[in-house]
Amino acid sequence: MSEAPTPSDCLFCRFVSREIEPDVVAETDRSLAFRDINPQAPTHVLVVPKRHVENAGALAVHAEELADVVSLARDVAAAEGLDGGYRLVFNTGAEAGQTVFHAHLHVLGGRSMQWPPG
Ligand code: C5P
Repeated sequence: MSEAPTPSDCLFCRFVSREIEPDVVAETDRSLAFRDINPQAPTHVLVVPKRHVENAGALAVHAEELADVVSLARDVAAAEGLDGGYRLVFNTGAEAGQTVFHAHLHVLGGRSMQWPPG
């Protein structure tokens, strides 16, 4: 399994290394969960793989890391008391709204959600 380089200018790599300290809610050996700085719901947490990969498509080939991200998201939702449901979103690519090019899973909950998203 080849490793993507860790770009020195990647914001979420800086969060993972704690060069910049995010508002961490949970972590595993492979993944970090922290509160989004601009929350779009009462609960808005981002779960990232600690190893740099650009997006969900690149993460998909690393099945164990992908599973770890999703299971940590499930654990965060449970810890946040999102018993009525929650939304998991990977914006993948600029046209889909991805602005930070280190894969991250949005965990959104605590309010009613609309579909389709904008
Ligand atoms: O999916 P997308 O790439 O647009 O999501 C990036 C997310 O990172 C945004 O929800 C944004 O609010 C969040 N962010 C953050 N802390 C920063 C910069 C961005 O939580 N310092």
